Amino acid sequence: MKYCQGPLCHTYDTKDRKRGPKGNKVNQTRRRSNLYYMQGNACSLQCQDDWFKQFGEQALNHFGRITQPIVLEEHNAWRKQYRWGYGDNEDRHYFYNMCTGEERNITEQQYNDNNYTLNT
Ligand SMILES: [Zn+2]
Repeated sequence: MKYCQGPLCHTYDTKDRKRGPKGNKVNQTRRRSNLYYMQGNACSLQCQDDWFKQFGEQALNHFGRITQPIVLEEHNAWRKQYRWGYGDNEDRHYFYNMCTGEERNITEQQYNDNNYTLNT
């Protein structure tokens, strides 16, 4: 079980957040075995958004901002693609270079192998 990391989770008034005896109830942060937002750290989209509003800026400053464009060049522009509607003897799987437009055929096995890369 873990707690939702939303900084305002306890402020949302729902039955499941209430604890304590009648007349002395408190609202508290949700605790679940499975949380479905923020990679398993927030109980709702609202809590994920609250977290981001409060900590997103700090997170960017901490982990480093993108201060110049990230560039897609020939060497890192290869993407696996699949072409359907071709005859049985046609190559259907290939690498496509998003910069140059070049195509290189590969086998279905190579296509399905997540570790397979072209030697470029
Ligand atoms: Zn929450």
